[in-house]
Amino acid sequence: MDNNDLSHDKSLDFIRQIIAEDLKNGKHTAPVTRFPPEPNGFLHIGHAKSICLNFGIAQENNSRCHLRFDDTNPSKEEAAYVESIKTDVQWLGYDWGDDLFFASDYFDKLYEYAIELIRRDKAYVCRLTAEEMREYRGTLTEAGKESPYRNRSIEENIELFQGMKEGKFETGSHVLRAKIDMASPNLNMRDPVIYRIMKVDHHRTGSKWCIYPMYDYTHCLSDAMEKITHSLCTLEFEDHRPLYDWFLDTLETSSHPRQIEFARLNLTYTVMSKRKILQLVTGGYVTGWDDPRMLTISGLRRRGYTPASIRNFCSEIGVGKKESWIDMGVLENSARNDLNETAPRVMGVLDPLKVIITNYPEDESEEVEAKNHPQKPEMGTRRLPFSREIYIERTDFMEDPPKKFFRLGPGREVRLRYAYFVTCVSVIKDESTGLVSEIHCTYDPATHGGNAPDGRKVKGTIHWVSAAHALSCQVRLYDRLFAVENPDADKEVDFKEHLNTDSLTVLTNCLVEPSLANTAPGTSVQFERQGYFCVDTADSKPEHLVFNRTVGLRDSWAKSQG
Ligand code: ATP
Ligand code: MG
Repeated sequence: MDNNDLSHDKSLDFIRQIIAEDLKNGKHTAPVTRFPPEPNGFLHIGHAKSICLNFGIAQENNSRCHLRFDDTNPSKEEAAYVESIKTDVQWLGYDWGDDLFFASDYFDKLYEYAIELIRRDKAYVCRLTAEEMREYRGTLTEAGKESPYRNRSIEENIELFQGMKEGKFETGSHVLRAKIDMASPNLNMRDPVIYRIMKVDHHRTGSKWCIYPMYDYTHCLSDAMEKITHSLCTLEFEDHRPLYDWFLDTLETSSHPRQIEFARLNLTYTVMSKRKILQLVTGGYVTGWDDPRMLTISGLRRRGYTPASIRNFCSEIGVGKKESWIDMGVLENSARNDLNETAPRVMGVLDPLKVIITNYPEDESEEVEAKNHPQKPEMGTRRLPFSREIYIERTDFMEDPPKKFFRLGPGREVRLRYAYFVTCVSVIKDESTGLVSEIHCTYDPATHGGNAPDGRKVKGTIHWVSAAHALSCQVRLYDRLFAVENPDADKEVDFKEHLNTDSLTVLTNCLVEPSLANTAPGTSVQFERQGYFCVDTADSKPEHLVFNRTVGLRDSWAKSQG
């Protein structure tokens, strides 16, 4: 095996192996792929799998991947979706160059192909009603019946089809069907409809057409016209492949792309169909297509996922032939892994508890030096203001802590990250509620920077912000949008019944260190010991930041010791 022979490389998925084989055999000089979304909604994480596969193959081979909008159904499609899809593909890091296409650009060609099918006696105009057509179609165990209109003359069919195009017939009254085999064991081959009348304007062709081609017919011919070599789709199209091939063989197209099916991505705790996501949006169950709880690309972006984290996720799950479920934790992990490398560390307190350092001079402050990334000195340092009044996380204090609680409690000493050792000397409570309202500590000035010259150790290091300098902000914590692993499992129960009612928690009294002032929307940081947070692109303002928690830290404690 020479070094360039990838066809038996076991590290390649089965599609890349097929392509390597085709290149080796000289069947193709370069693979040409396409990503063919229907512009009827925003893209989701399932589409990302297909994008990474198709554009990834083109990138690896220095070849092309087309972006083609499958816009054959004018009633469900909108120009706004086209724009969102382009934005998302580019954001993921892919470029279609000059190869941007619309199936609607082929409407004239597709019409000519249909006339050609009629000329070859391979298509006919049928007047059965939708219900009759269902009856005639037969079942898996029973052959279908031929339509009484099946044997019209070629001339009559051409005239009727032209009439359909000219708007002479009512919506639903006539269809053009392929003439294949009503007894085929494959139901897709029982004279499928290839054109229907729809008196609806199209987002690109306006009122030019009142007949629209069906997906199966359009898709294979669009692939052939664009000279796609490998047409990659999900498994549910496996039974459509004979039809895909039939159209191309019957019309003797000069190019005959090969359709290959792979398993779609299924993720736990979510729904992954644009139709269902649309219901969540229009029903007000979420704030929009880009709600950070949604697994749309725009939702993930707003939540703080990076393009690399999504690409890494797609590469990790791989491409296979077998349906499987991927745990949401796998996706979260890929965000964590990427952000761990890139996100600067900062101090943020989600549930502040006031601490007064009684032996620190009033009206004074100083700056301590903090690392932006403990493992990456090249990311530099910043100065944090420190003063007599600070805030710590309420959960970092316990009035009556158990032995294993290594944070603050009466008489206990901890390290304030990058600052000093402090010891809790008294606890102030709110008389009416009994809750701790403030704690008093003393600090050891000799421990400046967080290290004791006498070698004394403390078990805990906690984060803090200076009261006078901290910025107040809002933090949104997200939990899974659905309460069950597979909201679609029971067909009797509407998936919306399974929505998690606690999927959003808004914290309004949070505090962050002043270095975050004017942080640009979309910026990701790690709040030390808390997780990764991203400045919200829709609601954050320079004077009042809003953060989305992207994902928590797996092991918050270990991470803060660096
Ligand atoms: P949806 O049901 O969410 O609307 P779709 O398949 O109808 O999905 P399209 O816009 O037609 O959406 O899909 C564009 C491409 O993305 C297709 O090639 C399709 O196979 C692929 N795709 C869609 N969902 C998934 C998924 N969950 N996993 C992998 N690929 C997917
Ligand atoms: Mg679809």
